[in-house]
Amino acid sequence: MLETIAQALGDVRQGVARAEEDAGRPAGSVALVAVSKTFGADAVRAAYAAGQRAFGENYVQELVSKTEELVDLDIQWHFIGPLQSNKTRAVAERAHWVHSVERDKIAERLSAQRPDTLPPLNVLLQVNVSGEESKSGCRPDEVEALARKVAALPRLVLRGLMCIPEPSADEAVLLARFGLLAQLRDRLAAQGFELDTLSMGMSSDMALAIRAGATHVRVGTAIFGSRSYRH
Ligand SMILES: *Cc1c(COP(=O)(O)O)cnc(C)c1O
Repeated sequence: MLETIAQALGDVRQGVARAEEDAGRPAGSVALVAVSKTFGADAVRAAYAAGQRAFGENYVQELVSKTEELVDLDIQWHFIGPLQSNKTRAVAERAHWVHSVERDKIAERLSAQRPDTLPPLNVLLQVNVSGEESKSGCRPDEVEALARKVAALPRLVLRGLMCIPEPSADEAVLLARFGLLAQLRDRLAAQGFELDTLSMGMSSDMALAIRAGATHVRVGTAIFGSRSYRH
């Protein structure tokens, strides 16, 4: 497993580098978050041994168990999944980043529960860029108000925006979705928000996201293989 993961990680890093170059962006401008959801601590260790430091988790229970099993490693944990208000404490105590803040109440709880012994929690606002009723993320027209709320909370640092567009075989459609997130970030920047992060792009569409300005791509399958869900 160790070798397979190391090899796959190498391939993904090359893919990121190629996409940066194709997009005319500086080498190293895109950070790779390895999404380890549903995989065990041993898979995370294998990626860590191959130099990976940022890992993404979707489920609070997995964040808890892996942070406990892997306390000996210097990992930057990104919580990227849906977050219910009764589960915020574990995330506030364990994550370095949360990509999936979509309403004030969650942000308020994360700020209140962030331990004083830790630096402020880095927060991204998840935006629904595809406009379907069922998907998570706030609406584009709600982002500014949410950004004001989050920026005012003492134990959070608002770093940027995140999206998960509806899958599409049409590259132009995906590019437009990613482009919308970049526009929203620009609009907030014009309002005085200092945002340095756009989290967008997964295994299947990371090159397009990088073309549209992603600073963080969240890649699972291309590193760890396909998932068998227990949920
Ligand atoms: C699972 C997941 C990913 C990784 O998706 P892959 O297609 O496996 O690369 C990225 N972001 C979020 C929010 C996810 O839930």
